[in-house]
Amino acid sequence: MSQRSPSLREKVRQLRRTFLTKLPDTLGEGRALCARLATAPEDLETSLEDLCRTFHGIKGTAASFNLPDLSTAAAAGEALVLTVRDSEDTDLPRRAARVRALLPALEHALDQLLALARACADAEAAAAPEVPDFQAVAPLPRQDRKRVYVCDDEELMAEQLGAQLACFGYSISVFTSPENLRAAVLAMRPDAVVMDIIFPSGNSQGTDMIATLHRDMRNPPPVVFISARRDFDARLRAVQAGGEAYFPKPVKAIDLVECLDALTLGQEPDPFRVLVVDDEPEVAAYHSFILEQVGMTTRLLHDPALVLETLGEFKPDLILMDMYMPTCSGRDLSRVIRQVPEFISLPIVFLSSETNKAKQVTALRVGAEGFLTKPIQPEDLISAVALRAERMRTLRSLMVRDSLTGLFNHTFMLQFLESALATARRESTQLCLVMIDVDRFKMVNDTHGHPVGDQVLVALARLLQQRLRSSDTVGRYGGEEFALILHNIGPEEGAVLIDNLRRDFGRIRFQGAEQDFSCTFSAGLTGLVGGATAHRLLERADQALYAAKRAGRNRVVVSTPETPP
Ligand code: GH3
Ligand code: MG
Ligand code: MG
Repeated sequence: MSQRSPSLREKVRQLRRTFLTKLPDTLGEGRALCARLATAPEDLETSLEDLCRTFHGIKGTAASFNLPDLSTAAAAGEALVLTVRDSEDTDLPRRAARVRALLPALEHALDQLLALARACADAEAAAAPEVPDFQAVAPLPRQDRKRVYVCDDEELMAEQLGAQLACFGYSISVFTSPENLRAAVLAMRPDAVVMDIIFPSGNSQGTDMIATLHRDMRNPPPVVFISARRDFDARLRAVQAGGEAYFPKPVKAIDLVECLDALTLGQEPDPFRVLVVDDEPEVAAYHSFILEQVGMTTRLLHDPALVLETLGEFKPDLILMDMYMPTCSGRDLSRVIRQVPEFISLPIVFLSSETNKAKQVTALRVGAEGFLTKPIQPEDLISAVALRAERMRTLRSLMVRDSLTGLFNHTFMLQFLESALATARRESTQLCLVMIDVDRFKMVNDTHGHPVGDQVLVALARLLQQRLRSSDTVGRYGGEEFALILHNIGPEEGAVLIDNLRRDFGRIRFQGAEQDFSCTFSAGLTGLVGGATAHRLLERADQALYAAKRAGRNRVVVSTPETPP
């Protein structure tokens, strides 16, 4: 059922055309190298190396662009060069003699490549060539809230569950019959479905209905089953119908939210960032285009010397790196990257037409995460990159995230404040530090129980994340205390922003043990003060928070020089 993306096809054609147009020049350079081999024996090894890379590059690029004849001819040229380059005979005059004997064959290989390049260019102009099959995934329109359909024949129970999920930022629609749910899903695909398994009153079973959706839809939404049954048979039916998860009733909203968050993660507006390092612009553009088709963000780097600056600024989740580049090899470049503590665990994946396993293993020894062979099918490239980037994010988040709310933890916030402060000073920009503390939170726990208290914290965390800009940093500073770092905003403007959040948080209704309730928070805020350390800023925000509490809670106080310690 895969479908070709016309834009990918067009892009590949463009890149292939550019490659073919430039190929005569590249071959001209190869010819110049042959001339040097004949006339400058002192440069023999360098010239051999360069010529080898020329053939190797053509081999890989041609294969990526589905030009197999060209690729094979280049491989033959490479093999010729390798007979001398890798020969164990180190005696220079004998090596030079072998090279001289090889020259006619090398020149013939270059001639043949040129003829093939012309033929390919003509064919290119005449017909639409084949490109690898590619399943286009249209990027979803960005929605502020993810849409979840809840279906359960017990209306009250469905409404209650829906109300709780709504607190966590989901947009909920409730359905009491599988038929209605099916119609709604087909009309507008939700981000996820929560479905009861058994409908004793109706003819239709929830599992059957989901199975029909899987049959009829190209991209059915993920489904979580909920059920009063706990037996193996019910779970098996849920799996067979295509369910992603199973929760026996009574369902705890917080567990369900965690599951829904994970299931709808692929649609998070925070795409994977991939740095593509390749000295050949067309190849780099081709790979980056494939990744961007599925919503990843990429940056191209042709000059290895700029890698450290680019890493610092672009902050990729993964590097896709060519093995052979003129200024330095992928292996050496990886070593350089690994010397910087910050980048020690950054995944590096080599993408090369190198098929020699021993060479691949040496490459992996410098700490690369993987080795992909050109030409690679688009879907293989996407899954290889996504898998590793995802794993990297998970690992990193275990180190810097709080497990209940998913926000940055205390340690990370302190580190981050230091660097944000340094940046703001250097670039003369503004910055706000905000401390938020839930009011009378102990009473929430005492009245409704700790799990309900947790739900309040998660809801506040989500509200903060949803409403602040992605450039702002949100952390859980302590139990029911949160810290925010807002960039490029002064204290007055920051206070208005936080006050709006305060008002909206107060409007969220939570479901308690006996009855609904709402919560409030107090906040203390400080802007940058000349020369103040991170420690001093924290103190000032804390003092402002304390002032807000003393003044009666549920308010935002901005730190002033007069705020008493
Ligand atoms: P105030 O308005 O002065 O801030 O009063 P408060 O009750 O919010 O403050 P206090 O510091 O006395 O109580 C905070 C409570 O937060 C005590 C602690 O049990 C609870 N708490 C801390 N971490 C968690 C958590 O992760 N989950 C839950 N449910 N409660 C927590
Ligand atoms: Mg509190
Ligand atoms: Mg507290």
